[in-house]
Amino acid sequence: MTFALYGNGVSRGVTIGRVLCIDDAHDDITHSPVSSAERGAEAERLRSAFETVREDFQHLRLHVPSKAPNELRAILEVHMMLLDDPALIDAAVGLIETRGMNAEWALVETADLLAEQFDRMDDPYLRERKHDVLQVVARVRKALAGHRRITAPPLDDLPPIVIARDVAPADMIEYRHMAEGAQKAAGFITEAGGQTSHTAILARSMGVPAVVGVRGALDRLVDGDLIVIDGEQGVIVVQPDRQVLDWYRARVLRQSDEKAALGALRSRACVTIDGRLIELHANIELPEDAIAAINVNASGVGLFRSEFLFLDRDELPDEDEQFDAYRRAVSAMGGRPVTIRTIDIGADKMLRVPDKRMDGTENPALGLRAIRYSLAEPKMFRAQLRAILRAAVYGPVRILLPMISSVREVEAAREQIVRARAELTQRGQPVPDDVPVGGMIEIPAAAVALRAFTPVLDFLSIGTNDLIQYTLAIDRADATVADYYDPLHPAVLALIARTIEEGERAGVSVSVCGEMAGDPLLAPLLLGMGLRNFSMHPAQIPYVKQALLACRHDEARQLADAVLAENDSRVIRSLLAAARPAALRAAA
Ligand code: PEP
Ligand code: MG
Repeated sequence: MTFALYGNGVSRGVTIGRVLCIDDAHDDITHSPVSSAERGAEAERLRSAFETVREDFQHLRLHVPSKAPNELRAILEVHMMLLDDPALIDAAVGLIETRGMNAEWALVETADLLAEQFDRMDDPYLRERKHDVLQVVARVRKALAGHRRITAPPLDDLPPIVIARDVAPADMIEYRHMAEGAQKAAGFITEAGGQTSHTAILARSMGVPAVVGVRGALDRLVDGDLIVIDGEQGVIVVQPDRQVLDWYRARVLRQSDEKAALGALRSRACVTIDGRLIELHANIELPEDAIAAINVNASGVGLFRSEFLFLDRDELPDEDEQFDAYRRAVSAMGGRPVTIRTIDIGADKMLRVPDKRMDGTENPALGLRAIRYSLAEPKMFRAQLRAILRAAVYGPVRILLPMISSVREVEAAREQIVRARAELTQRGQPVPDDVPVGGMIEIPAAAVALRAFTPVLDFLSIGTNDLIQYTLAIDRADATVADYYDPLHPAVLALIARTIEEGERAGVSVSVCGEMAGDPLLAPLLLGMGLRNFSMHPAQIPYVKQALLACRHDEARQLADAVLAENDSRVIRSLLAAARPAALRAAA
């Protein structure tokens, strides 16, 4: 039966694919002790859930399409074997009988034990089997909960769409690597997450649709379900009937036509109708992303989130490894400027290396994060600065300091840059004279006190994702408050407008590198506020360029004046929708 699920669409595009559940969080399992008299019935409930899944697998095996790749058949066989493995079923039944656990509790307890054993295995192939165990267990859990559905045909060449409770930034990096292999994830659905959680940002960087904050997704979706994900509307259609599927297939085709049309804009300069030249830069997470930036003809890299080199690592990258990564990005950009942000560690981007200082931190987003972290770790900071300065020999590089809140931090960072430079000179290594140092305006205090910063910074970059989070006191990664996360809140817009205006007045260039810069609907507004430099994921550049090419600067100014005079973000949204250039409205 067809049904729909809803969440926050955070990365545009429509994809048709098959569900791949990544269900490794077992925290929501109820732990209810079972009395001795009830244990037999509870064990039977678990056995019968296994039996249900066994029947499903048998059905699936009979319906494997003839052209399905052999590996898919092999996976099904492995899952059937695991289902019958006494280490799983007998052990779980044993926990019910001897320790009086309820079936769900016994099941995940056994699965966790098995997963640990797999984790300890040396053979990488066997280690990988842990995911198979977790997938089988997830099916049994769904059968226990009464959510059971046989999906047929189960195996075809449709791409996987990953469903997870949450995808940590470090895991996303793994998916990005996977994206280069055969099992390319074609979309993401998470139960957690907000508009600008790093999960959402990375999905955008992969150019695949993503819907976050979808409550109950893991319970209601089963591996192999045929689904459509619409990352713009935030809709997921499960088991679509023929008519619905045909309609979405037509949309997917239209989408590729649109992409081809946008591709034709690649070589056009981004100039408004009345001749204002705008620079469109790319945000990247890894040096390899520079290729995508060049493919869309970005003016440069406006934000290299260098912390992604540090995530999911037991040993942090040393100076040479970092130098190599930065140099690769700089060389790939072929003379276009590369803005490297010093690490923004903390909050949802924690290092794997244990750090006692973070223990018991209740508000990591307000804690030792970004520039504060770097200043607390001067040796590590200087290693990064030396790596950046060395890479600057290969092309224009700028250093960007994240989350500045006081001039003192900028001065302290500049002292470290001077020391890093001296250390390189002492080693006899060349360093270019001119490596501009900029600051990210993402804490309201910095925007309000901007005049203090313009004399000590060479450029400014507005990080709207955090600026919204800190202005509105909304955790950007928290799905429960996602509805309050409002880029069009008058306070947020006033801070952005004032930063652009004061920066320009002081002769310090300003860019916006938060997700707002990549939203074509907001492009005329930011243009009207005086912005000339946008930085966004490469995949967004064609859409924003298309919007700006259809704008007149004088009209955009009037729009910005009207918006800044408004107090209600709903009215602001309708002003923006009405101001959308007619050509784009027709295309939408
Ligand atoms: C921002 O906060 O807008 C930003 C660009 O930084 P990040 O999303 O990496 O925190
Ligand atoms: Mg930020």
